[in-house]
Amino acid sequence: PTKEKSKPEPAPPACIVHQTVYVPVHRSTEVQEARLRLPILAEEQQVMETINENPIVIVAGETGSGKTTQLPQFLYEAGYAQHKMIGVTEPRRVAAIAMSKRVAHEMNLPESEVSYLIRFEGNVTPATRIKFMTDGVLLKEIETDFLLSKYSVIILDEAHERSVYTDILVGLLSRIVPLRHKRGQPLKLIIMSATLRVTDFTENTRLFKIPPPLLKVEARQFPVTIHFQKRTPDDYVAEAYRKTLKIHNQLPEGGILIFVTGQQEVNQLVRKLRRTFPYQPVAKQVTENAEALEETKDGADAEITETVEDPKELEFDMKRTIRNIRKSKKKFLAQIALPKINLDDYKLPGDDTEADMHEQQDLEELEEGLEDEDENEEELELDSGESSGQRQPLWVLPLYSLLSSDKQNRIFQPVPEGCRLCVVSTNVAETSLTIPHIKYVVDCGRQKTRLYDKLTGVSAFVVTYTSKASADQRAGRAGRISAGHCYRLYSSAVYNDCFEDFAQPDIQRKPVEDLMLQMRCMGIDRVVHFPFPSPPDQVQLQAAERRLTVLGALEAQATPSSSSEKTLDLPPAVTRLGQVISRFPVAPRFGKMLALSHQQNLLPYTVCLVAALSVQEVLIETGVQRDEDVAPGANRYYRKRQSWAASGNYQLLGDPMVLLRAVGAAEYAGSQGRLPEFCAANGLRQKAVSEVRKLRVQLTNEINLNVSDVELGVDPELKPPTDGQARFLRQILLAGMGDRVARKVPLADIADKEERRRLKYAYHCADMEEPAFLHASSVLRQKSPDWVVYQEAYELQNGDSTKMFIRGITAIEPEWLLLYVPLLCNIREVREDPAPRFDDTSGKIYCHVDATFGKSGWELPLGEV
Ligand code: ADP
Ligand code: MG
Repeated sequence: PTKEKSKPEPAPPACIVHQTVYVPVHRSTEVQEARLRLPILAEEQQVMETINENPIVIVAGETGSGKTTQLPQFLYEAGYAQHKMIGVTEPRRVAAIAMSKRVAHEMNLPESEVSYLIRFEGNVTPATRIKFMTDGVLLKEIETDFLLSKYSVIILDEAHERSVYTDILVGLLSRIVPLRHKRGQPLKLIIMSATLRVTDFTENTRLFKIPPPLLKVEARQFPVTIHFQKRTPDDYVAEAYRKTLKIHNQLPEGGILIFVTGQQEVNQLVRKLRRTFPYQPVAKQVTENAEALEETKDGADAEITETVEDPKELEFDMKRTIRNIRKSKKKFLAQIALPKINLDDYKLPGDDTEADMHEQQDLEELEEGLEDEDENEEELELDSGESSGQRQPLWVLPLYSLLSSDKQNRIFQPVPEGCRLCVVSTNVAETSLTIPHIKYVVDCGRQKTRLYDKLTGVSAFVVTYTSKASADQRAGRAGRISAGHCYRLYSSAVYNDCFEDFAQPDIQRKPVEDLMLQMRCMGIDRVVHFPFPSPPDQVQLQAAERRLTVLGALEAQATPSSSSEKTLDLPPAVTRLGQVISRFPVAPRFGKMLALSHQQNLLPYTVCLVAALSVQEVLIETGVQRDEDVAPGANRYYRKRQSWAASGNYQLLGDPMVLLRAVGAAEYAGSQGRLPEFCAANGLRQKAVSEVRKLRVQLTNEINLNVSDVELGVDPELKPPTDGQARFLRQILLAGMGDRVARKVPLADIADKEERRRLKYAYHCADMEEPAFLHASSVLRQKSPDWVVYQEAYELQNGDSTKMFIRGITAIEPEWLLLYVPLLCNIREVREDPAPRFDDTSGKIYCHVDATFGKSGWELPLGEV
């Protein structure tokens, strides 16, 4: 190949510290021309000089300025890939794959040399020179090779996203870089950000003693006119559709980029738009349509017809395609099918149900449900069919993380002649991928995030407003080629009042127990001293360590008397149980419950319970502050719920049993198409019920993926929990909630009648001074067992004073505490009578002990340990 005249000169040797070579790259003219338009190319010299002279550099530049695709190439040409690899991390899998392919293409190198690695796939070979990977993958590599000795440079891309892994990598690399320097094998660290908000990295002296230089890549950005909506509609997908219609019918050419929150919304909108604006050369459009349908079923394999000439044949093929899709959808559904709940057991009093519910039926219902959805869409189209007959074709493409990379790549391919490009995307297109030719942005202003409950530590996916920074990033996508327009589907008042300036770093939003266990599993011993870019609260970190120890995920500390100062200083190691727990994608206390259920064959129930406990307010509250102060219908709901947990271990399992039944019965009612009525009659929140379902599916899938010897959901029949199983479930709940034990205030000791009445439902919690009261909604309130665990404790303002409540109550037996929460028990005396016994199965010796529980020294009955 001829030497391009535009090829940049190698940096003069004078300012190069380590590299003195120039490795030629042979790019095509087309690529060469595209590169020349990128702002970062003009800065190559300066960028490389700064990198050569500094161990750590921060590069900030507007999305699309060429950071991700060009910087690895600069480094390659400067010889950084000669002996070791160039590593690039991305918070998103999409970006890791797309960018490795693009860079390979630009450099004219095979994918065996410019490769990617994400959790379940990759094309890395021994010949790999530039390796794109997710940040989680690099973190895993540090576990086995702390010095990252295979790499000469690490680029942490998209650092502005502040993903937990990238933040931890920044902290780790701030230590690894000097270590590598000391060993005479320097490692370069480049932190890349799409925004200038990098002070958490530059001005954090715990992180970097000398602030690293900040390189700004100046990108040409055309003005973008922002249009706010007068009102903020709830159905932003329908609104996005209407807006896109208007833009397409009334405004001059230029691509449209639409931001919605998730894959489902993307597919829904893509389908609708493709129907409204069929692409003229029919055969191709059918293929497109088929693909649109195919994309809705999460990547199961379906046959897609190629171009067909005869329209009749086309129709036939279309049908066949849909049939195929249905077939593989069935397969897909069968794979994730949740265990069926035995109806008799979940039949509700006064609820007449027909007993047989077959899987087949279930599937048909689901399919019908899908068709219904389609019909609804058609209606909507008619409603908004205000547009002219003379439509220019619209080339509609979906974009989201789980889309196959081939299909993702279509956003970069030329748009068919005479068509307008329209990309419907999740926030993947915000900064990770730059879509060419966009002039109009339609922004729904929302995103799907995982929210964590401070009280329970449980997480749930919710749709929230984005931040102002995100909204501005999205708008910026319209100004890459010329002056653009951004249509925000919300009012300026909402933008001003409801949008945070910036998204909070993930690390400060997520519960630290989770993170602590994960980091400890990676071998980061002193999490408390770890140089986080934005540290989580120190007190919280220490509390997390304590809670993990009580859970049995961390080794218990040696007692001060029996150990020297040195051993005391050693942080507790992760136990085997801790390693198992860390593999579940839920809070560690729930992870432990799942881990124990594995032993007792109780996984399907625990999955259901953990899902139900993770979703807020599945049940409409029946008792509020005082008994009289209740919601309409509350008494009726309350009586029903009591009957669901009527006797034996069902009753003692208490409020979780109610949840288990409610979810089971709702599932059944849903299969009969009676979910709304059922929810209304029993005081369930329908939206919460469907969230529980989603979470159950997710947990079931993740357990099947992560726990090698378990395959959940294959057996479609879930036997109802027997009384014995309900008893195990009580123990499992205790094992997860061992730090949430409460004991009834003994009323017999209280002489004063008034005081006795006041303390009727009062409990002492293990580590709280003030008594807490059993919430009026608890089905165990009448029974008021002596020993309980609770899901949640919270305070309510009551006039001038506050009153503490506990809810989500399960009765426990105090002798279980010795077995399930041994660390909070103090053993005073080991008894010889009855004589210790040897247990064959565990190989352990059990003996009876005198013990107390917790700081306040509650007497425990004679128990076995
Ligand atoms: P940054 O990382 O600064 O946001 P990138 O390096 O990702 O910028 O993108 C630089 C340019 O390369 C963008 O204009 C983008 O559209 C283009 N680009 C990226 N991937 C592809 C691809 N697969 N095909 C064509 N162009 C691409
Ligand atoms: Mg980038």
